[in-house]
Amino acid sequence: MQLIDIGANLTHESFRHDFDQVLARAQAHGIAQLVVTGASAQGSRDAYAVALAHRGVLFATAGVHPHHAGDFDADSEALLRELHALPEVVAVGETGLDYHRDFSPRDAQRFAFERQLELAAECGKPLFLHQRDAHADLLACLDNVRGRIGRAVVHCFTGNERELADYLDRDFYIGITGWICDERRGQHLRELVQRIPADRLLLETDAPYLLPRTVKPAPSHRRNEPMYLAHICAEVARDRGEEAAVTAANSTAAARAFFALPPL
Ligand SMILES: [Zn+2]
Repeated sequence: MQLIDIGANLTHESFRHDFDQVLARAQAHGIAQLVVTGASAQGSRDAYAVALAHRGVLFATAGVHPHHAGDFDADSEALLRELHALPEVVAVGETGLDYHRDFSPRDAQRFAFERQLELAAECGKPLFLHQRDAHADLLACLDNVRGRIGRAVVHCFTGNERELADYLDRDFYIGITGWICDERRGQHLRELVQRIPADRLLLETDAPYLLPRTVKPAPSHRRNEPMYLAHICAEVARDRGEEAAVTAANSTAAARAFFALPPL
């Protein structure tokens, strides 16, 4: 069984002391390739550096997360443009809108998002999107550039039936994390995940965040890591009523197609 973790924040400081072991454990659990999320100017530079150091196994995205949209300026835009030209950088993002936390003012979020949509239109690479409590505005921004952007994934989808339908209508891909294992707030995803076409369903850990609550025995630390993608895959497979090997094969093929990754 081969899996691809389409969203891992491997440049997070919590991985600094045991990065190689984390990667080795992931590979031992069938995670063949991983896309390292770039969520700020510096974070995108770092994601590119680890991808370069692990060619063919790690890939990077380059973008500025809505939480950091307040820092988005001409320099960040120029840096992102440079990174998007590199083969190790396979998507534009993480970008989008987050009105749940509002860590950056909303007009700054919309500005940074719109600029990154332009970058995606320019370079032709797919979009790695983040949305929380901002569904209508996110769609409006995306609809403005319809026909000019290519593939897009709504990463860490946590929304409702209507939102899922809006995304699938637009042919977007859906990223499912261990949120689905959270009996307090992810229960609705158990049913919704059945409606995602196999060629639109992507799997991700969002490590070190979102440790799946159904991992047994629960690790003593709270850090999520890519090896738990196999657990997420098994849970999603059960909800979809299919063998884990089928979910794995389909989501891996979908991820390779989405990011245009070389086969291992
Ligand atoms: Zn996110």
